[in-house]
Amino acid sequence: MKEEIRKIQTLLDDIQRKSEMKHGESFKESFDLFELPEIVESIVDYLQPLLLPYEAGIYWYLFRHSIIKNGNEYIRVSTRGLGNVKQVLTSSSGQSESLSYGAVQKALNGLITKGAIKKVGDTNRDGTLYKLVLPEEIEICQKRIAEVKITEQPFVDPHKELDYYNIIENRLRIFERDNYKCYYCDMQLTRFSATIDHIQPVSQGGDNSYDNLVTSCLQCNSRRGAKPVMKAILDGEKNRE
Ligand SMILES: [Zn+2]
Repeated sequence: MKEEIRKIQTLLDDIQRKSEMKHGESFKESFDLFELPEIVESIVDYLQPLLLPYEAGIYWYLFRHSIIKNGNEYIRVSTRGLGNVKQVLTSSSGQSESLSYGAVQKALNGLITKGAIKKVGDTNRDGTLYKLVLPEEIEICQKRIAEVKITEQPFVDPHKELDYYNIIENRLRIFERDNYKCYYCDMQLTRFSATIDHIQPVSQGGDNSYDNLVTSCLQCNSRRGAKPVMKAILDGEKNRE
């Protein structure tokens, strides 16, 4: 009975591994090198602050030898190999140049607990197959990303940010605000006869923000040119009489 359960377990592991590998293939296909700066940014911003120094060092080592090396999230490494290769990390204890087996094991376990790597396959003599997990897929990072997004949400003043001149729906909002009346001569206009005028002309640094635009009849608009607003309003009044 025990033997059979073990066989079923092996079978299930195999299925799991195959589906993970399939996912790896699709990752490889859709992975774009141009995304790399963004990935590195998210690791430094969201994952690294949650890692201990050895965990971070080993994560970056795995990153370099998986995603950077061949665009694949999977990497097979052995605990002993990570400790022995002097190129990975220098021990902070000062006792030896390389990391102890225990230190590497502890770091790998830490990374697994935090969800930054996943053990995918059985261990063979070349080591264990791991899947490197990127911040957007790591639960503790998702929490952090959400928190940072809430606190760092920049205040956007829609009146300043949006283009109310070139975007047709926004133009209509200017007309509606002004009740389709010319700002200068008060003439009643329609959406077909109304034009948009810049209070501060573009030539003088005026932008297309909500606050810098007014509804104008064609006559006032073309007559105004770069005239100051007050002058245009006075001329508009004359125009009305
Ligand atoms: Zn007018």
